[in-house]
Amino acid sequence: MSAAAAPDWLVQLRGRQGSPAAPARTATDPVNLPMIRRWCAAMGERNPAYLDEQAPLAPPAMLEVWTMRGFTPDGSGGAVARLTGIDEMDAAGFTAVVATNLSQEYVRYLHPGDLVTQQVTFVGVSDQKQTALGPGHFLDYRYEFTDQRGEVVGRMRFRILKYRPTQVAAAAPAAMKPPHPRPAITADSAFFWDGLNQRRLLIRRCGQCARLHHPPGPMCPVCHSQQWSVLEASGRGTVHSYVIVHQPQMPGFRYPLPVALVDLEEGVRLVANLSGVGPEQVRIGMPVEVEFNEVEPGYVLYAFHPRAGG
Ligand code: ZN
Repeated sequence: MSAAAAPDWLVQLRGRQGSPAAPARTATDPVNLPMIRRWCAAMGERNPAYLDEQAPLAPPAMLEVWTMRGFTPDGSGGAVARLTGIDEMDAAGFTAVVATNLSQEYVRYLHPGDLVTQQVTFVGVSDQKQTALGPGHFLDYRYEFTDQRGEVVGRMRFRILKYRPTQVAAAAPAAMKPPHPRPAITADSAFFWDGLNQRRLLIRRCGQCARLHHPPGPMCPVCHSQQWSVLEASGRGTVHSYVIVHQPQMPGFRYPLPVALVDLEEGVRLVANLSGVGPEQVRIGMPVEVEFNEVEPGYVLYAFHPRAGG
């Protein structure tokens, strides 16, 4: 698309390049040890430099954590300032969003007591691109993080794609049906996928402690033995928990899509799509049974459907 053909909203948006994308925001709380501890626990970070009670450092990757809004209103007045470009793109029909790039630069370590402020600059908006998700525009933002003295402690570049979702799912004729995404098959999980192709649900059993485990990994998560055999499961189980997926929608699936944690009667738990049951009919504890579906020649996937009894 040439510049001359750009729609009005895009021309106006480009006029705001280089200006603030949102009001500056100062962290609700200063950098503090409890939040560092929670973050390290969540990330599995064990570097003692971050957890030293005498002189802890904040992990640099926490840069944006300090100024991030919480899940609940933070007393800042309720209204959320949306970044420049989001509302404009929504109004132009590019209603879906996906983050595509994020890079951070750390100028210095943050310590407890530092109070971080972020300022976001709207860098620009691309021409319309045709992407696998649908037509859209990339939006670029530059974040600058400063401390209580106004000195820069870090920077961040953030790029998102705002796009018009391509309608695929149920309405598409069979001939246009997009290919089902393929699993990542490793040396550890190949037996499982080979089993599905033979319409068998195979579970890995530890050769040392005999516990069943799934998904398959290089060793037993309990005793760390690398010896194993397989057990062919009966395919009967019950719904331990479930979610109904509405978004994001991937080509090759039908939505709303019930996805369950299924407890097999052998005593191991799997993630599985549910079939033959409406989203409103799924119940915790529902008895289910495996089924095998050849979604493409030579490519068999499993799902669970309700079964009678319990
Ligand atoms: Zn074991």
